Amino acid sequence: MPIPSEAASSLWFDHALLPEGWARGVRLSIADGRIASIEAGTERAAHEVDNGVALPGVADLHSHAFQRAMAGLTEGRGPAGAGGERDDFWSWRALMYRFLDRGGPEEIEAITAYAFMEMLEGGFTRIAEFHYLHNDPTGSAYADPAELTGRVVSAAEATGIGLTLLPVFYAHATFGGAAPSHGQRRFINDVDGFARLLEAGRGLISRLPDAVVGVAPHSLRAVTPDELAHMPALAGDGPIHIHVAEQTKEVDDCLVWSGKRPVEWLLENAPVDDRWCLIHATHVTEAEWREVAARRAVVGLCPVTEANLGDGVFPAAAFVEAGGRFGVGTDSNVQIGLSEELRMLEYSQRLTQRGRAIMAEPARSTGRALFDRALAGGAQACGVDDAGLSVGAVADILGLDHSRIAFADRSGDALLDSWIFGGDRNALRSVWRRGRQVVADGRHVARDAVEAGFRKALAKVVAA
Ligand SMILES: [Zn+2]
Repeated sequence: MPIPSEAASSLWFDHALLPEGWARGVRLSIADGRIASIEAGTERAAHEVDNGVALPGVADLHSHAFQRAMAGLTEGRGPAGAGGERDDFWSWRALMYRFLDRGGPEEIEAITAYAFMEMLEGGFTRIAEFHYLHNDPTGSAYADPAELTGRVVSAAEATGIGLTLLPVFYAHATFGGAAPSHGQRRFINDVDGFARLLEAGRGLISRLPDAVVGVAPHSLRAVTPDELAHMPALAGDGPIHIHVAEQTKEVDDCLVWSGKRPVEWLLENAPVDDRWCLIHATHVTEAEWREVAARRAVVGLCPVTEANLGDGVFPAAAFVEAGGRFGVGTDSNVQIGLSEELRMLEYSQRLTQRGRAIMAEPARSTGRALFDRALAGGAQACGVDDAGLSVGAVADILGLDHSRIAFADRSGDALLDSWIFGGDRNALRSVWRRGRQVVADGRHVARDAVEAGFRKALAKVVAA
């Protein structure tokens, strides 16, 4: 069921972040889901509502929506920890695989819709869903092999979020084409089956107004070089996303397999360019990140998940200085919010470099520089060209409530810094997608129904 609200024809804001900078008294007129005109320096008319501080909506460039249901369930010591070994990414992954024993199409759709709704409430107006659950809990294809892809599309439709659908190609357990493990049975495909899934995905998204389809070879562990070579042609004009170098074990295993590090191998063996998004790329050498920057690929940083999983820290400041592009993603969705991702990104840099304002740039504060770069990088990685409040752009708009104490006596970049670092979760009051209000007073317009569906799904997938 699509969201019911009508599109606005005009919105007035006290402040707005426009591509050329901050403006006061901004009226945006909207037609057919796009910004038709922008007037700055206006007075609010008697019939107009003050919508606060306008920011462009940002894309969340990486998510596995179903993992939202696991938030808070993997924070205890597992068998590895109890045995004296450390809990780590790999013990978390074992728990995640067990979680997949349950959960059919209805549960997957309900959990996905809940995650997408929270993304809108958290400032993300588009999601690149790295969708790797394809098969039923026994590992067999559904009668319609694109059943679960269709559920992701339905969740986007129900919440109104912009969708960049990234069906995942996953065929092997580790480097060298190893047979997949039992825990991976819901992900597995071959190249022909994947091509059919992709075609089905392209048909399914045609009912959404501005959806994009790309491809996601899961990782160098999960695809062979021959399989990877098929991906750029299968992507067509769409983006190509891959997990790479998230964990030091992956780097070590890749060195054993090929004599190269994962990012090094990828740059030498795949046509990495501005269509590509390298998710995490945490463990990179300077030669690797300089080459990623030169190829104009986006690095997909997921700071909250990377912290939660103990992955490590990407050298973001040096990368940006070299012209590198990044966006942010919510990945495991343990917590969903744009300001949280940007704050964690900056704090990870501060903690490792023992400095302050690491991501700030000349004439742009830390929050502003993080926001602008995540906006541009997110759009590029999602395969959409317009990002920002400009005439002709899609009317994806965030409205911060500037009456809140967090914003008292603030203007310009300090508004963003106060939102990101002041941590007022209720500051984001309104969100419009294609000019339709999907979040009002901080709540998604369909929250009650979506939350009820999520509770029902949790009862089925979490209960022992
Ligand atoms: Zn991921």
